[in-house]
Amino acid sequence: MKFVCLQCGREAPFSERGLYRCGCGGLFDVLHDYSRTDAEQLKRLFDARLSERNTPLSGGVWRYKELIHPELPVDRIITKYEGNTGLYENESLRKAAGVRRLWMKAQSENPSGSFKDNGMTVAVSHGLWLGYERLACTSTGNTSSSMAMYAALANAEAVIFLPAEGVSQNKALQTEAYGARMVRTEGGYDDGIVFLDRYAESLGLYVCNSINPLRIEGQKSIVFELAHQMRWKLPDWIVLPGGALSNASALGKGLAELREIGLIDSAPRIAVIQAEGASPFHRMVRSGQRSLSPTPKPDTVASALRIGNPPNWPKALRYAIDNANGVTASVTDEEILEAKALIDRCGIGCEPASAATLAGLRRLVAGGTIGSDETVACVLTGNLLKDTEAIERALRLGATNTVETPAPAKLSPEIIRGMLL
Ligand SMILES: *Cc1c(COP(=O)(O)O)cnc(C)c1O
Ligand SMILES: [Zn+2]
Repeated sequence: MKFVCLQCGREAPFSERGLYRCGCGGLFDVLHDYSRTDAEQLKRLFDARLSERNTPLSGGVWRYKELIHPELPVDRIITKYEGNTGLYENESLRKAAGVRRLWMKAQSENPSGSFKDNGMTVAVSHGLWLGYERLACTSTGNTSSSMAMYAALANAEAVIFLPAEGVSQNKALQTEAYGARMVRTEGGYDDGIVFLDRYAESLGLYVCNSINPLRIEGQKSIVFELAHQMRWKLPDWIVLPGGALSNASALGKGLAELREIGLIDSAPRIAVIQAEGASPFHRMVRSGQRSLSPTPKPDTVASALRIGNPPNWPKALRYAIDNANGVTASVTDEEILEAKALIDRCGIGCEPASAATLAGLRRLVAGGTIGSDETVACVLTGNLLKDTEAIERALRLGATNTVETPAPAKLSPEIIRGMLL
């Protein structure tokens, strides 16, 4: 296992402190040696771990340790048994999407309520193993919740650079509740990344944002677990939301590795869905360009997608678009809230950013990119309770489910009968 620069190809040891980017400015990528990896042996190993409970390798990330961070000593793993999330089929969602089969992979069921846990358990374990005592990130709210949770679990310090505005209050409060030190900043996520890129190392901070290649390694487990749950037969398409593009990078990389090892033989395509007000990657791909023009003031109801300059775009371009024959789409806030209401009402539930998947899928089916005879898995990234303000907005779009009644002593059964009509 080593680091390789995505841009100039320079190699570096993965155990060097302060290393996220190459001197040339390119992103580092983790390169594994899978030449002696046996697919059938791995399948048996992963199956065997399914019967373990509360051991370091029993979670949905570290179960796949050999493909994620083979060199980390098992006793240095900081885990909340993240992953292990549900995979659901629902007839009304399938109909709304208009495809042959549709699965929802609910990363929203992670311990801190978002898929960030899949990557964070690896980044935090790695950083503390390297000897750092302080962890840092900037965030639209879910990265910070996740990092603060693991830092607290490991008795390490969390320093969070959180935009003062535009972050859901639920996420900011969750982060603070885990005991993190909060720096509320002007500007947004993009400004926070610039600050950490420049000053983190001199402040002794280990950066747990997705420019950290170990985050990407951990998030590959989303597609590993999906493939495992589907008995190593993946659907035609995997649809995910795109903000900082860590998942697009990680799932694309994970698919390539599954094929390289021989764990799967199909080649699912990836669709990355952005919110219209924060869609620099979609605009780049659509226009056939190979360099990204940032969106200066990203804006969308899906606060997790409020990113104008996604740092991982070169990785996402390579792994999700070039290697996985991927496509992009953008959706409006109205489409996102409408899709969210559908996902909530079928009992799965999600925060707005996750609903961009279903909204984008509907667009791609309507436009003929995805066929009605094809099979699809959508990745739901964040929990319903992550953004209560958005719940109110989505509810206002539909008919109300609530009747106001007098005190129970004066409540007549007729009122209830009327409601049930
Ligand atoms: C972080 C986040 C995203 C964006 O994912 P990227 O990997 O940054 O593109 C989407 N949805 C939710 C809920 C998130 O927390
Ligand atoms: Zn380089």
